Order: sequence, then C-alpha cells, then structure tokens
Amino acid sequence: MPKYVYDFTEGNKDLKDLLGGKGANLAEMTNLGLPVPPGFTITSEACRYYLDHEAMPEGLDAEVGRHLEALEREMGKRLGQPDDPLLVSVRSGAKFSMPGMMETVLNVGLNDESVHGLAERSGNERFAWDSYRRLIQMFGKTVLDIDGDLFETAIDEAKAAKGVESDLDLDTDDFKGLVATYKTIVREHAGREFPTDPREQMDLAIKAVFGSWNAPRAILYRRQERIPADLGTAVNIVAMVFGNLGMDSGTGVAFTRDPASGQQGIYGDYLQNAQGEDVVAGIRSTVPLAELEQIDKKSYAELLQIMETLENHYRDLCDIEFTIEGGKLWMLQTRVGKRTAAAAFRIATQLVDQELIDEDEAVRRVTGDQLAQLMFPRFGEVADDVKKITEGMGASPGAAVGKAVFSSGRAVELADDGEDVILLRRETSPDDLDGMIAARGILTSRGGKTSHAAVVARGMGKTCVCGAEELEIDVKARQATAPGGVTIKEGDVISIDGTTGAVYLGEVAVVDSPVVQYFEGTLAASDGDELVASVDRLMRHADSRRRLAVRANADNGEDAARARRFGAQGIGLCRTEHMFLGERRQYVEDLILAETKEDRSAALRALEPLQKQDFKEIFAAMDGLPVTIRLIDPPLHEFLPDLTDLTVRVATGDASSDDERLLEAVRRLHEQNPMLGLRGVRLGVVIPGLFGMQVRAIAEAAAELKEAGKEPHAEIMIPLVGAVQELEYIREEAEKVLADVGVEALIGTMIELPRAAMTAGQIAEAAEFFSFGTNDLTQTTWGFSRDDVESAFFGRYLELGIFGVSPFETLDVDGVGRLVRIAAEEGRATRPGLKLGICGEHGGDPESVHFFHEVGLDYVSCSPFRIPVARLEAGRAAIQSKG
Ligand code: PEP
Ligand code: MG
Repeated sequence: MPKYVYDFTEGNKDLKDLLGGKGANLAEMTNLGLPVPPGFTITSEACRYYLDHEAMPEGLDAEVGRHLEALEREMGKRLGQPDDPLLVSVRSGAKFSMPGMMETVLNVGLNDESVHGLAERSGNERFAWDSYRRLIQMFGKTVLDIDGDLFETAIDEAKAAKGVESDLDLDTDDFKGLVATYKTIVREHAGREFPTDPREQMDLAIKAVFGSWNAPRAILYRRQERIPADLGTAVNIVAMVFGNLGMDSGTGVAFTRDPASGQQGIYGDYLQNAQGEDVVAGIRSTVPLAELEQIDKKSYAELLQIMETLENHYRDLCDIEFTIEGGKLWMLQTRVGKRTAAAAFRIATQLVDQELIDEDEAVRRVTGDQLAQLMFPRFGEVADDVKKITEGMGASPGAAVGKAVFSSGRAVELADDGEDVILLRRETSPDDLDGMIAARGILTSRGGKTSHAAVVARGMGKTCVCGAEELEIDVKARQATAPGGVTIKEGDVISIDGTTGAVYLGEVAVVDSPVVQYFEGTLAASDGDELVASVDRLMRHADSRRRLAVRANADNGEDAARARRFGAQGIGLCRTEHMFLGERRQYVEDLILAETKEDRSAALRALEPLQKQDFKEIFAAMDGLPVTIRLIDPPLHEFLPDLTDLTVRVATGDASSDDERLLEAVRRLHEQNPMLGLRGVRLGVVIPGLFGMQVRAIAEAAAELKEAGKEPHAEIMIPLVGAVQELEYIREEAEKVLADVGVEALIGTMIELPRAAMTAGQIAEAAEFFSFGTNDLTQTTWGFSRDDVESAFFGRYLELGIFGVSPFETLDVDGVGRLVRIAAEEGRATRPGLKLGICGEHGGDPESVHFFHEVGLDYVSCSPFRIPVARLEAGRAAIQSKG
C-alpha cells in the first residue's frame, strides 16, 4: 500500500507532485527550523484515488489516525478535547497554486463542549464562540453544500437587530445566538445535524477538500492556467493558530520582493486581530507590512529574518502567509511567488548579480508568455478630453481600455458580443473568475496587492488596478462614483493603467512598450531602463544556448525588415498568394479566364514583374539569409468574385459579358471542400506555367540582386504535396527555369498531409528541405476544417476537457507531433542533410517550440512579433534538455 500521509517533518519542497505546493513547502520550512504549526499532509495520490473510486483508499483512515495521534501527542491535547481542544485547519493545496479556487475548513474540533474549553484556555469567550460559528459556516458551505448566503444573511440580521455594522461589534451572546441559528440552517438545508464528533468533522472536511478539486471554478481556473485536470489536490491538516485572539494577534501576507517590479524591500499587508482568509478576501482594509514594526517589533524582526532565510534558501522571490498569535509568529505558508512579467525578468537578473543563480537558471525562470506580455502596448499621451478620475494600486501591469461593467455575468455577455470590458468590483472572489477571464482589465475599490483580484490577475497576465478606495462602487445601480462626483455608468469607456494605478474616464491612446522599442532598435539596452537591460541580457543568453534557428513568416519587405530587427535568421514562409490581392486580382482573373495558351501566357507575363519586385524587396531585407518562398497555395476561387454576388448581377441584367464568363468560371471552380480540393501543388500540376512563372520571378529577382552585389538565398517551397511524384513533376519544371536564368535555389516541400508525413522517406528523394505546415497538418490529421471548427465546437470541447488547449494553438504532440517525428526521422534517413523547419502558427507557441527542439528540427518560423518569444523559448528548450 502506498504511503498516503506525510508528517511535515517527513516531506520536502521537491515533493510537490505528492504533497502539493503548500504541503511540500510547509515541510521544507519545518525542516529549516522555522516556526510552523505542526501537522501532516494527505497526498494528492489519495485524492486521485478518492475521485476515481468515490471512496477513500483502504488503510487511509488508520494512517490518518496514527498521524493525528502523533500530532495530539506533540501538542499535548486531543482533537476537540473538551477542556483544552486541539483544533486543526483542513486546507487544500495542489501542485500548482490555485488561489481561492478550492476549499479550506478552519477550527475543526469545536463543538458544544470544546467551545467552553477554548473559551477558558484563551480567556476570551467571544473569540471561542466566534470561532465556533465560523466553523459551522465554513463547514456548512463547503462540506454540506449549503448556500453560503444563508449564513451571511443570518449574520447581517444579527447586526441589523443590534443596530451595528461591523462583525467586531457583535459580542459573545450574539455569537452564541448565531451558533444556534447556523445549526438550524444546517438541519433544514442539509437534512442532518451539524456533526459534533471532531474526527467525523475532520474526515468529512478532508473529503470535501478532495471533492473541491472538481468544483466548477477550479476546473475553469485550471483550463485558463493550463493546469492538468488529473493531478488532484493534497490536504494539509495543521494545528490551528489564531490571529484573532486580540490586538496582539493578527495575520498577514508578505513578499520578499515587490511582485510587480522585482525591487527588494518589505512588501505585504497586515491585519490585526483577524484570521488569514480575511486578508486574502480583501474584506477588511489591511495596513502596509512596514507598520508591523510599530505594532510588534519582535515579531517583525523575526519575520524579516525568516524572509531573508527563505529567499536565500529558495533562491527566488517567496510569498508568505503568517499569523501572530498573542505575540508569537507562525509561518502558515510559503511558496515561490507569482510575479508580473517585468518582475520575472528583473528578479532573474538580480539573482544572477547576487550570485544566487547562474544565467541558465535565469533564462529558465522567464517564459515566452511573459516576454509577449512585455511587448503589449502601454498608455501614451492622455488626450485633453480624457480625465484621470482616481488612482488605485497598480497590481498587474498593462494598459486596458474597455466598457465598464459591474458584474461577472455582464462581463461575459458583452465579451461574447466582441466588446472589450473592464470589470469593476468592490473586491473579487473566486466566483468572479469567468468575468475576470472575459474582461480586458479589472478594477477594484478594495484590497491590496495581495487581494484575490491582484493575485489572480497577475497569474493571468491581465491588467489590474486594485484598492482604488476613493471609488464608490454600487454594483446594484451598475455605477461607480469617483471623487468630485464623476460617475462611471455601465457601458462608459474607461482606461486603467496596471503599472501606475491610474483610472481614466475615456479612451487613452496606447504606444509601443519599451521592450518593443528595444527590439526595434530605437531604445538601447544601455539607455537606463532596468527592464530592457534585463530582457537584453536574458535574450543574449538564450540566443547563445539555443540550437533552433528562428525565422519569420513574412510576405513583404517591410515585415521582413522588422522580423530581421527582431532577430529573425531568415524567412521560413513567404506566402505568395498575398501578392495577388488588391489591384493584382485582375491578372489572376485574366489567368483563370484565359481560353487560349496565348491569353494565359499574357496574364502570367503581366504578373511576373510584379512578383519579381516583391521578391527583390524581401531578398534585400534578408540579405545573406535564407528566404523560403512558397508557391501559390489557396484554391483559385478565392481570387474571384463571390458566387452569389455574380449570380445576382447576371440575373438582374446588370452584368457585363466578362461577368458572365466569370460566373461560369466561378461555377466551374466551385468546390464543396475547397481546403481539400484544387490547391497547393495540384494547382501547379493542372495550370501550366503558373508555378513556372513564380519560379522565374524568384530566380530573376535573385539574379538581379546578385548582380547588385547582394547575397540572396532562395528556397522554393511546394505546398500540400502528398506524393513524391507531384514534387518530381514540379521540380523538373522549376529546375529548368532556374537553369535558364542561371540561379541556384533549394527546392523543398511543405509537409501538410498525413500521407506526406508517412511517405517522407520517398518525398525526401526529391526535396532538399521539409517545412512542416502544422496548420494544415492539424486540419488534415484531425479531419477538422480549420476555418469552421473553432467557432462550431471548440468551445464545448475545451469546456469538457476533451482539449486542454486548441490544437491549432499548441501542437497536438501525441497525434500531429507523432507525424512530425516520423517524417523528420524518415526524411533524414533518406537524405541525412535534409533541412527541417516548421512554419505553421505553432512555430511561435512556447510549448510547441520545446517539442520542435526535441524532435531535432533546424528552425521554427513564426510571425515577426513572435520572434523574440520563439528565440527565448528555443533557448529555454536547449537549457532544459541539457538538464
Ligand atoms: C500551414 O498549413 O501550416 C501553413 C503554414 O500554411 P497555411 O497556413 O498558409 O495553409
Ligand atoms: Mg498550409
């Protein structure tokens, strides 16, 4: 039988898979000798068993019993002991932090008898009864599934009856009354009595925490954060310490560095006479942690000492939850803290400077997604008619503009209609998750940098301003009032700055971020911007480590030039069909309508110089680097007028004779499944001269540039090949043209069809390179129409967890990836020097880049803006695979 329960003295920080983040780190702190209340962790393996079998694994009960006994021995009192009760918290804690998404039950062990013992021992009767009612409330909601509002309403009624507003104004008798009321609520809504047996309370709470892994908001959060659905959560049973015993008690959260900027210092919030959940929920206003020095100098000094120990031990920013019980400091949690993208880059380089980590580790600690966030635009100049109406804390950076909404439901509705929205709430709770996902930005009037809104928004990389206290938010009236009486009504456009905390009524224009200016070359790394200097340093290191080259998907000289500034080492995909749009469409029409060989040649001759000019611009921008030009790919009808429009024109007699011929052509070319029809190499085979014209334009452009002293490297790429014979046919035509012009170029193919992948060994006989077109390869492997399915059913698939993420976004490694692997291996078996690249959208997706590194491709190609992301991830992949 596996070991399901670990005492805090038995675990360590590397056991997160088994003990969850919280449990593993509590164990680590215990072993560092820090003041952690004793306790034990039930593994996520037990949770998975419970969720699979709807029953606890055999032997778990006895194992928990043994650990509980040990805990009781250590504490010198039994769980719920009437005269001096041991109380415990039952806390969730998965491998990845899911703030507030799962359940926790505090004060387990209280009942009608032990409440008296607690009152006596603490010398505080009010506290004991308040703790008891909190237990029934949490237990009722979490374990017995009773609507939490029933308890809230009861406490509101108690306050109203007494004519007071704060919980702090309720006394012992009020709490005794509430305990009775709460028990009645339990009886009426759960169909059972509130359990008074302490062990039964604990066992039911454990099951409820296990079950909360599958609570809807937890499922939604995991999907959003790409956390696997099958990990399960561990459960921590921890001896209770109380921050609400009086004014010499309290609870707080702290960071060893500012999670928004990375600056070292004292960052955190403290709340006197309160329990932990009060801080995270942002219900009562906290004071800055620095004030703890005045409140409790000894605990403050000890906390700073511990923070230093933790940072040096974890070699990273840590966040901490602590409680002070009657002047004694206790550590309730630590973990490597979430941080903003900018802070991630800054902290990683600061730690290198402090010699806590090396540069490989620094690159490992930043991600392509974070880099992408740093490339988002910022607010620029604020126009005269846009007013700054108030300011809160910049809790998660970015610049967000959108319509104000006051509920998560409304945020989702408007976002579904394609609107940008900003969600305004007094504070957010885990129930607001879907609204937060739907919104561009989040603005709250309460809570600090560690409030739920701030923590979750930072995790999502979403702009958030919190604690804008001057803002009166009236959720019912759907409006907010700023100082001076300015009101924001639902639908008003507002702009929020997650860096400075500024809130504007109206739309503020956005400008390029400094990181983009750096990549563009208009801002130097030495210009004094610390973030830019960090990015520069880590990018250089990633570049020095990566094996994968990074190329760009670009179709014109301008994009190619930008891509080069961003670090592209060539072009991996130039889609030539984009050159046939606009005014040039006419020539394609002429080509399609040509009835004689002469007409066709004339149309091709007209197109050729235009194409040549395009290629010259691209070769010039990529001088000395490879440029892969793909011959025309899409079905020809895409260049012709719409069938319905033409039919109407012809039917109403408005048509010219050309229109009638066009209509005939459109009908002739009409296909049921154009994506699987006459496109790619098939066009080259059936339309004589089309591919030849393109190859000639490429060859002549290259020849002219060479003459001008440049160094063009053309690579001609044939799309949608399924059989080597297709490629051979086109190759022969292309080689003739190249010989005729006297230019050399590689000729290769895209791998976009399963058949191409499965016969890659044959295809490689005729191809000098492969480039995986993973957009089409995903489409053809799954049998999805890429233009239709995302709106038709992907939403539902994601909801059901059939997909963790769209396979058009992140490569489906098991299916499509397998074909890539086979084609790479078999292609190289035929032609050892075969150059391998990928030019589908996945080329700029961080996770997919790691896979492409691992299967041994030579390069990835992606849109210019993703190039820095791909460079960084390629570096990380190389460092990671090195171990
Ligand atoms: C592909 O299919 O992955 C590809 C790059 O080509 P396109 O998206 O133009 O079909
Ligand atoms: Mg394709």
